[in-house]
Amino acid sequence: MKHFNADVVVVGGGHAGTEAASAAARMGANTVLVTLKIDKVGVMSCNPAIGGLGKGHLVREIDALDGVMGRAADAAGIQFRLLNRRKGPAVQGPRAQADRELYRQAVLGNLEKQENLSIVEGEVAQFLLSGKKVVGVKLADGREIHSKSVILTTGTFLRGVIHIGETSTPGGRMGDAPSVKLAEQIDGFDLPMGRLKTGTPPRLDGSTIDWSVLDQQPGDDEPTMFSFLSKRPVARQISCGITHTNVRTHEIISRNLNKSAMYGGRIDGVGPRYCPSIEDKIVRFSDKESHQVFLEPESLSNNTVYPNGVSTSLPEDVQRAYINSMVGLEEAVILQPGYAIEYDYVDPRALNANLSLKSVQGLYLAGQINGTTGYEEAGAQGLVAGLNAALEAKGSPPLYFSRAESYIGVMIDDLITRGVSEPYRMFTSRAEFRLSLRADNADQRLTPLGLELGCVSSNRKDVFLDKRERLTFGMNLLTGSKFTPKEIESSGISIKQDGKKRSGLDILAFPDVEFKDLGTLIPASETLDDDVKLQLSRDALYANYITRQQRDIDAIQKEERIEFPKDFNFRDIAGLSNELRTKLERFKPENMAQAAKIDGMTPSALTLLLYHVKKRALELRATAT
Ligand code: FAD
Repeated sequence: MKHFNADVVVVGGGHAGTEAASAAARMGANTVLVTLKIDKVGVMSCNPAIGGLGKGHLVREIDALDGVMGRAADAAGIQFRLLNRRKGPAVQGPRAQADRELYRQAVLGNLEKQENLSIVEGEVAQFLLSGKKVVGVKLADGREIHSKSVILTTGTFLRGVIHIGETSTPGGRMGDAPSVKLAEQIDGFDLPMGRLKTGTPPRLDGSTIDWSVLDQQPGDDEPTMFSFLSKRPVARQISCGITHTNVRTHEIISRNLNKSAMYGGRIDGVGPRYCPSIEDKIVRFSDKESHQVFLEPESLSNNTVYPNGVSTSLPEDVQRAYINSMVGLEEAVILQPGYAIEYDYVDPRALNANLSLKSVQGLYLAGQINGTTGYEEAGAQGLVAGLNAALEAKGSPPLYFSRAESYIGVMIDDLITRGVSEPYRMFTSRAEFRLSLRADNADQRLTPLGLELGCVSSNRKDVFLDKRERLTFGMNLLTGSKFTPKEIESSGISIKQDGKKRSGLDILAFPDVEFKDLGTLIPASETLDDDVKLQLSRDALYANYITRQQRDIDAIQKEERIEFPKDFNFRDIAGLSNELRTKLERFKPENMAQAAKIDGMTPSALTLLLYHVKKRALELRATAT
């Protein structure tokens, strides 16, 4: 192939690139995915796990629009756990530890089957330009692909540098060269750029770990799947081991801090606060004598183990010493050392809400290149860019995701309006509408949009329409009749005799009432399927809160102009996280609107600030009179 014409070219076969390519092709756009190595499509560069708090919501939303990640994680999952199980369903996060190889195969297999999509192996060395518009790419071997738009998803590869102790080598991730030529051309676009860093732990040989002395953590008895199309895991399920750092581990790390790339002053980039290296943990939490380390098998077919919680940029001999200082790991052999990587990112404020660049026509950016961290964040951006590039190719208007309808919308809005001061990751606290943006109802929120766009398979369409019909039937049953307190009491549910009639949905919102308790009042409710009962119970639980939440948000929006007095002391506000206090002290917002724009600001923190600034105003008024 010397020249090739496409609607959309995607550069990079990581988590953003695979979702982008699949989404554009599902929309009917003639799509080419160019990536450095085909056998590395869908590779997990760091932890072998998908999902988690906030991240699990993103995976469900990707799945609701028929993306790849949820189905691949279900196909490869070797341990499924619902995080925050004891908290409310809105903040529960599905997570699966995945067999790295099965995950890679599932992603690649999915793309290979996708109509309208070709995968090309090669290095994109240059964008083809027509005036200021990107109209394709040129590969290092001279091949050219012309297209209506290009989606760049090169992750940590732009001028990537790998650091292990005092050694620094250029690299996009371990074993891969960085993208330097492309980075040089991007310099010419004069975009706002910065440097970020992230790290990964050493990988261990599981056959050298003494599992017999370690606690084990099994998965859930009833696994929560990611995809709305999956029923149960297919791979064999395993447990993880648990060990801990100890005083000796900490002493080894403290003694060698000056040799850490992170602490020896060799890395300028800012790292992810929520995924600290073990060096960071020892320095930042110096009062703690121990940190938990999960030993997660990376695969059913080899012995590699991922020690979750000890990412590092210390020299290899120091890594060996601290690993061997932990119980069960005394004889553990390191298969690949941990390392830190520093790379270029583009300030996402340079992007439109469809992830196209404001200043370079025809070029979309998605994934880690936009300052985010994590597979899920990358995948969700890839989906947005892929859908939009396909819409552009058809001449259709762009698609925007709002904060009120999805975590995807929350992330894109955060990125393009606030930018990032550290690698951005998703949390449920970032979503002000989190009570309605639940992982369990992602299909109800987004699959209708997918049907309208035409990016959803006929199988998913059938499954979705069937579920919607069953839900509507169930909701009609619950709201169709109202019962007096006497009737409710005589069905065995205790209730205040306040004379108020209530529907089945109202009754289901009572803290101690379960679906089965409605059997006497609404006998047909017993015939509903379990998935419908679960979703309706959650809708009932949150119905009142959602109304109240909307009132809070309206109030905050009205109060945005309230100003902080010049000497307002953010440090003294009890209930704010240390992170937010530090940021407020640093940025010193003049008013509530500016405070709301600080990266990581949450609705509850804003309510707290509002309370204190109003209290202060009253105090000032009292002293003035
Ligand atoms: P990637 O998955 O990196 O994919 C980039 C793709 O672009 C690759 O397929 C590459 O081959 C291709 N490519 C690059 N340049 C070119 C070119 N010129 N031409 C063609 N193809 C090209 N996330 C966490 O959530 N927690 C962590 O602790 C964490 N630690 C990490 C540690 C390390 C060392 C690394 C490397 C990553 C870590 N991550 C972590 C991040 C996670 O791996 C990424 O967030 C995620 O992979 C980003 O997806 P992406 O699609 O943007 O990029």
